[in-house]
Amino acid sequence: MRAIRVSEFGGPEVLKIQDVADPKADSGQVLVRIKAAGVNPVDTYIRAGAYARKPNLPFTPGTDAGGIVEAVGPNVKRFKAGDRVYTNGSITGVCAELALCEESRVHHLPGKISFAQGAALGVPYGTAYRALFQRGRTKAGETVLVHGATGGVGVACVQFARAAGLTVIGTGGTEKGRALVAEQGAHHVLDHRASDYDKQLLNITEGRGVDLITEMLANVNLARDLTMLAPGGRVVVIGNRGNVEINPREAMTREAAIFGLTLFAATEADLREIHAAIIAGLENGTVRPFVGHELPLADAPRAHQFVMEPGAYGKIVLVP
Ligand code: NAP
Repeated sequence: MRAIRVSEFGGPEVLKIQDVADPKADSGQVLVRIKAAGVNPVDTYIRAGAYARKPNLPFTPGTDAGGIVEAVGPNVKRFKAGDRVYTNGSITGVCAELALCEESRVHHLPGKISFAQGAALGVPYGTAYRALFQRGRTKAGETVLVHGATGGVGVACVQFARAAGLTVIGTGGTEKGRALVAEQGAHHVLDHRASDYDKQLLNITEGRGVDLITEMLANVNLARDLTMLAPGGRVVVIGNRGNVEINPREAMTREAAIFGLTLFAATEADLREIHAAIIAGLENGTVRPFVGHELPLADAPRAHQFVMEPGAYGKIVLVP
């Protein structure tokens, strides 16, 4: 089969398409024929060797995919060859024609959801659900700022929050991105590059601020986030690319809290909850992954560059 291989850590150019042996499903494993593979920012940090978890070289990147079950190993209970599925983890990496996965990392994909949409689920929707409900403990009637709503995680946050009865404010850095955020269900859309977006947010909330912020770029925004919180407000740090100075008084006077989030810390019970919510959302139409860019598998280097550039527009997927 053809697969993207990384033989040394480095820039996007270390992603090479190669022929490798087809994997075989062992006990408890599912072999998936990949129809689309999602590209997440974390894949670029891992490729660069800059992430806390470093895979052994050489490896095939990627965890999120949509595809069809090719074969199952002994003791696999929930799947058979021919089932439409999405994955949220893989033993051999999903940027390939075939990928081996533990049964627990494979989920049924409803017929009305495309494979490319299936590839947009695992990390983005898993992270969004964990941010809103498992870390942020939000509930109907609250107001959330999705700070960076145009990309994979942001679109997922907007959809989950809207379906859960929150008032949703989303931000984007481009006009096209902000139009997407409105289409996905945000009640209000702001430009995170505008100098006065915090004042606009306080106007929208009649001076109260928001109950929750799901933050995609904390090193740029955390200090200002604290000034936009309502009493008892929470910030969930999802994305961060550097240091930041904050005034803790802003948190103190609001009795506000800052929560970290890493999807890798989700327990098996957390993941069961997350995927039950995703599948319910797919079935009732409130989870509608938006794929902005589909590229051929061989263009993995371009996709890795693309996902780190400003001007996000939904999800980027690779098609074998
Ligand atoms: P993505 O699809 O590339 O989207 C990036 C988002 O960040 C876009 O909405 C972008 O908006 C926004 N952004 C850029 N500059 C911003 C600013 N100054 N203020 C607010 N938002 C800004 O990436 P993603 O998959 O959504 O992931 C978002 C971040 O979360 C990444 O850093 C990723 O590594 C991280 N993440 C962490 C976890 C975890 O477990 N902690 C899990 C998933 C993702 P514009 O392009 O419109 O400006």
